[in-house]
Amino acid sequence: MNINQSGWRPETPMSDTSEATQTFTGNRALMLDEALIFEIGDQHTTGVDFSERAGEYRSRLGTLARKTPINLPGLSEPETIRHYTRLSRQNYGIDLGFFPLGSCTMKHNPRLNEKMARLPGFADIHPLQPVDTVQGALELIDQLAHWLKTLTGMPAVAMSPKAGAHGELCGILAIRAALEARGDARSVVLVPTSAHGTNPATAAFAGYAVEDIPANPDGRVDAAALKARLGSDVACVMITNPNTCGLFERELKDIADAVHAAGAFVYCDGANFNAIVGRVRPGDLGVDAMHINLHKTFSTPHGGGGPGSGPVVFSAALAPYAPLPFVDKEGDQFVLVEEETAGDHHAGSFGRMVAFHGQMGMFTRALTYILSHGADGLRQVAEDAVLNANYILRSLEGTLDAPFAHTGPCMHEAIFSDSGMADGFNTIDIAKGLIDEGFHPMTVYFPLVVHGAMLIEPTETESKAALDQFIGALRSVAERARAGDPTLKTAPHFAPRRRLDETLAARKPVLVWKEATVS
Ligand SMILES: *Cc1c(COP(=O)(O)O)cnc(C)c1O
Repeated sequence: MNINQSGWRPETPMSDTSEATQTFTGNRALMLDEALIFEIGDQHTTGVDFSERAGEYRSRLGTLARKTPINLPGLSEPETIRHYTRLSRQNYGIDLGFFPLGSCTMKHNPRLNEKMARLPGFADIHPLQPVDTVQGALELIDQLAHWLKTLTGMPAVAMSPKAGAHGELCGILAIRAALEARGDARSVVLVPTSAHGTNPATAAFAGYAVEDIPANPDGRVDAAALKARLGSDVACVMITNPNTCGLFERELKDIADAVHAAGAFVYCDGANFNAIVGRVRPGDLGVDAMHINLHKTFSTPHGGGGPGSGPVVFSAALAPYAPLPFVDKEGDQFVLVEEETAGDHHAGSFGRMVAFHGQMGMFTRALTYILSHGADGLRQVAEDAVLNANYILRSLEGTLDAPFAHTGPCMHEAIFSDSGMADGFNTIDIAKGLIDEGFHPMTVYFPLVVHGAMLIEPTETESKAALDQFIGALRSVAERARAGDPTLKTAPHFAPRRRLDETLAARKPVLVWKEATVS
């Protein structure tokens, strides 16, 4: 290996064709080719021993007995373990390398969090246990709630929503309950085009008509257009801050004042809180409800679908409509306030988001993260996240088109477009080229306000060396796209699978591998 300006590079190109390229097995050394689970094993193999009497039960079932095979893959225990272990080695995760997915805050998850989450007093409890046997767990929820309120400058928080989008729904339902309580049902939610895609989806799911508010040429919401649209039919404005272009919505306070004057509420998508934690309190900007993605800002593991956790902080105006249950303190006992015990102040609650109290494991990790960082550490998280994103923005603006770089520094993520590439070369080719370089690609084609968008969020947990390596790789791939290198059109070349037909995979997924018949 040698180090050059653009980072680490293998001395011999991996596509060296003087070497054998084909193996008997299809494996490439430790990169093992793995078939689908339905292609290996057979229906007569199993990892468990069935009693001799299974056949007897089957005959007793008579006409109820299954007549066609169940079509489950048949593998022994060691075959099963090997199958999934081989697949897991082809996976990419934050513990393996840099994960620059924009808007996802894929940061390192400190192992101290894991240690705390595995303490039996937090890990081995049950939500139906008597409250006096889980006082410590309730105290932890209460403490985390305290710090979330402190960090956001908001008086109330609902802990139970299980992800960001779920938190958005929680906020919108509270807003609707507040409006209905004053006999003022409204029908429209305004969503800037610089907002996250979950925002209009949530508003539509809750039954509102969604109206777009355009972005400025500088990537921020057009405040004048937003104010001009306010009226007695507008229930709320959903604004992502920092927005999905990685920019701070500087006029949020001014917008919030206008929204309130029009009798509506301000929902802030706080998934990008990592950029401002410890520096900005959304409550000071006039926000009425905001979800916090514990699995992003407060480093609880995510990806692959969860589990997430999306507590929602509320202003005083919305607090009475927040969901139940919540943790409260009576004397020296922590209690759960439920429908039956909620006093008059919470009579307006819109109800429940989930059966129980939320994601205990994520709460434990997030509180550990907050306490181990402290106030100064959390502020530094935001500062370093912003510094890293700006390092990427400035290092690559000569290579890739950076549509908002002229407006000043970015926040937690840097956005580029594919303008200036050779004819027929675009964002997808650059993303596939990065896979050959051993990186998970950045977020692509989102947000929609930038054509061929590439959204890169490095987070604060990457070192300068890691950023330099990534910048070098991306620069090299972008230069190939600019020069129209035909080998880039067919990348990835070195991944376990080559470029897939993503449209076909989405439109016509093969969900059943083969139909077996009774034997
Ligand atoms: C991640 C994200 C969401 C959605 O959060 P989930 O936990 O994935 O539901 C919403 N808005 C923004 C800006 C995000 O980055």
